[in-house]
Amino acid sequence: MDKNKKQRSWAEPYKIKMVEPVRISTFEERKKAIEAAGYNTFLLRSRDVYIDLLTDSGTSAMSDRQWAGMMMGDEAYAGSENFYHLERKVRRFYGYKYIVPTHQGRAAEHIISQIMIKKGDYIPGNMYFTTTKLHQELAGGTFVDVVIDEAHDPDNEHPFKANVDLDKLETLIIEKGADRIPYVSIATSVNMAGGQPISMENLKQVRELTQNYGIPIIHDMTRVAENAFFIKQREKGYGDKPVREIVSEICCLTDGATMSAKKDALVNIGGFLALNDKELFKKACNMVVIYEGLHTYGGLAGRDMEAMAIGITESVDEDHIKARVGQVEYLGKKLIDMGIPIVLPIGSHGVFLNASKILSHLSQDKLPAQTLAAELYLDAGIRAMERGVVSAGRNPETGEHNYPALELVRLTIPRRVYTQAHLDVVAESVEAVYENREAITGLEFTYEPEHLRFFQSRFQKIE
Ligand SMILES: *Cc1c(COP(=O)(O)O)cnc(C)c1O
Repeated sequence: MDKNKKQRSWAEPYKIKMVEPVRISTFEERKKAIEAAGYNTFLLRSRDVYIDLLTDSGTSAMSDRQWAGMMMGDEAYAGSENFYHLERKVRRFYGYKYIVPTHQGRAAEHIISQIMIKKGDYIPGNMYFTTTKLHQELAGGTFVDVVIDEAHDPDNEHPFKANVDLDKLETLIIEKGADRIPYVSIATSVNMAGGQPISMENLKQVRELTQNYGIPIIHDMTRVAENAFFIKQREKGYGDKPVREIVSEICCLTDGATMSAKKDALVNIGGFLALNDKELFKKACNMVVIYEGLHTYGGLAGRDMEAMAIGITESVDEDHIKARVGQVEYLGKKLIDMGIPIVLPIGSHGVFLNASKILSHLSQDKLPAQTLAAELYLDAGIRAMERGVVSAGRNPETGEHNYPALELVRLTIPRRVYTQAHLDVVAESVEAVYENREAITGLEFTYEPEHLRFFQSRFQKIE
């Protein structure tokens, strides 16, 4: 390509066939709404939000094909056609042999944890995820973080921050014994690291190491297509490979998977557990009838399985995935150009604002990330999520706040929902809040529930 050539604009690879109106509120209305919500964006009503970047979970826009598929729901209790369609797609795109549908990702995590983990086991993983870790613990296991140290540093620009530290992993195996490790849990495009990928090279090394000890790998494949796209962009030898082939190569290096289809697979509800081992599959079928439903629907309507089957194909489409990750990059680059401190490299599903740098005049006990999220809402009706001291909770022994190293606000981009124009509005709002940052005084708790306090806590402004 000619280096001097002007960078050309790009646009979303879809056009709009149906619209959902969103309301642009006044400052007075927003002030009332955020006060009524106790300055917690989780307590806002969706109708009061203009651009909703709370999460990318279940918030995707489905395609016309998926909606057409919804009309083809085979709502038989047993043996629905849609189940067999879904099973074919999982085999074709991911290569796993057996599939158990579940109502969402955590239900698959529940089943795999219960059938594989024994009391006193250890489950190494490339950074924790809230529901994954909780189900491992409920089954009597202990999660052990074996991600590389770079993952915990917001300024480190390592291209594969979700890589496993092989020394940490092998040390754990030797220390605890391979028979105490039922599986290694590998997530693709790791959420808690900011949507960062694992490299194919590292995954192959993990495979080799664990095979030597006879330990299987269970893959949290919630964002596998996004991870595959980063491999295509960043890893030597993959630049010309189709994303769908990279996805399949990743899956082939693992023994089973849990999927929250509410993310990459472009549906509003759904998930599955996939396995290669027939005996484990039988156990999973036994569990799913207790907690979800028969093994050919697992808590889903036929139409939901159909939408998922179609979404799987669309999720690995080159134009789609390029635009999906490209939108996040577009917003991230805009913010960098404005001089706003964000976590680097830019992730696959969202941009993480560094609230401790943006509101550097506020100490962490004045809840800078919670404050920043509330200010963003006030400025233009944009809803983001706190990922800082409020999310980190309290130390159960001392009762003190846990003070995490990262004090972040996550701007999560739903798939195919907003246009670049919406993202321009978001960037300008962040900039406006940034310019007025000195006047921002912080928040204090007025109500604090005991568990997962970020969901329901209430706050007031510090005067
Ligand atoms: C969302 C998510 C889950 C849990 O899935 P649900 O569908 O919300 O139950 C598990 N792992 C990761 C990485 C996720 O992002």
